Amino acid sequence: MAIEKQPSCDDPAEPALLPVAEAKRRIAELVPALQDVENVNTVVSAGRVLARAILSPLNVPAATNSAMDGYAISHGDIPQSGEQSLDVVGECYAGRPYPHKVNPGEAVRIFTGGVMPHGTDTVVIQEHVAVDGGKVRIDHDVQAMRNVRLAGEDIKQGETVLEAGRKLSAADIGLIASLGISEVVVTRRLKVAFFSTGDEVQSLDKAITEGLPDGMVYDSNRHTLRCLLQALGVEAIDLGIVKDTFDDTYQALKTASEQADVVVSSGGISAGDADYVTKAFHQLGDVAFWKIAMRPGRPLASGKIGEAAFFGLPGNPVAVMVTFLAFVQPAIKRRMGMLSTEPMAIPARASARMKKTPGRMEYQRGIMSVSDDGAVQVALTGKQGAGRLSSMSVANCLIVLSEQQGTVEVGDTVSVWPFDGLL
Ligand code: AMP
Ligand code: MG
Repeated sequence: MAIEKQPSCDDPAEPALLPVAEAKRRIAELVPALQDVENVNTVVSAGRVLARAILSPLNVPAATNSAMDGYAISHGDIPQSGEQSLDVVGECYAGRPYPHKVNPGEAVRIFTGGVMPHGTDTVVIQEHVAVDGGKVRIDHDVQAMRNVRLAGEDIKQGETVLEAGRKLSAADIGLIASLGISEVVVTRRLKVAFFSTGDEVQSLDKAITEGLPDGMVYDSNRHTLRCLLQALGVEAIDLGIVKDTFDDTYQALKTASEQADVVVSSGGISAGDADYVTKAFHQLGDVAFWKIAMRPGRPLASGKIGEAAFFGLPGNPVAVMVTFLAFVQPAIKRRMGMLSTEPMAIPARASARMKKTPGRMEYQRGIMSVSDDGAVQVALTGKQGAGRLSSMSVANCLIVLSEQQGTVEVGDTVSVWPFDGLL
């Protein structure tokens, strides 16, 4: 009798798979932005997400000042033709303003950052004057209003300088500090609990004492996940390795959902082991198992356990990273209150052929570089199997090939997610 074959991840095309975009839409519904906010000191707020816009309490620069070393004058003293001699009546340094009014026929020696003295509006750079004892001579070439930075030129008082929903960068912290704002309102730090599943998964802690017994694999997913979570700036709670039993899975999920806003697991969701996992999930909350039209990372579990959002990622180490980047990272960013949640996709020219079957998204490991003609180009890393973490380590980007895309020929443009800032 002929073998009756079931659909598998290896099939080039399989009907009834969930498109990536639809999975993302469902996830977005499950994971609303956190509403809890707290005040934190500006100097320790890097990586936190602004919950309220920052409005400038000041003009920046606060006062009109000189952009160059030279002489502050009034434009009325610039001669129509020939030269004009001006009395140098004082000096003005950054932080040490000249306190008096400057009259017609007078100039003040001024240095970069010095506040423009009352009565002046133009700086003649020192290279363009002739110094004559206590006087300077200027000529008709001097341009009015030059070499000054106007008050409020960079930022006006009351202006929005940073929008809510932004993750604070080094430049942002400097900007906020420059406005004299010592405290900011940010969303509460998100707690994300994560664990590995699998009877065959051996903890790295046991590498020295036990080594690797037959049939076991060292746990890598938990360590990758910890790094990815830390890079996002969340509080990462490591719940270890969970055995492939109903009770262990149930307990792990319950504990995780009680202490975290988001729970991420790896492994245990493929057809072979889904039974008890499904049961454990269903006793705790509303979790859906999806077969997604993508590669790697076809199976994904997602749902809610109490208030916590849950993501059950596949076990294969590359699939863990890809599904994390495609689904979990944007969801966590959204939950953190960030407005921009998707990885930045940039176009690159394929420098080698890439085989691809239409009907599913593919996330291939790529190496991007700059070609001799200055364009961004990308090629696949060697072997692409979902279990080969080394391919992820060699890669510096993911090549994102859309569902409709067929095989990519040399010279075609593809989209890549650079790992810089992503991992
Ligand atoms: P699973 O989805 O649980 O069937 O796992 C798929 C594959 O990924 C198996 O070969 C597992 O041994 C491997 N795997 C699962 N979890 C881990 C982990 N935490 N670290 C490394 N490999 C894993
Ligand atoms: Mg497993």
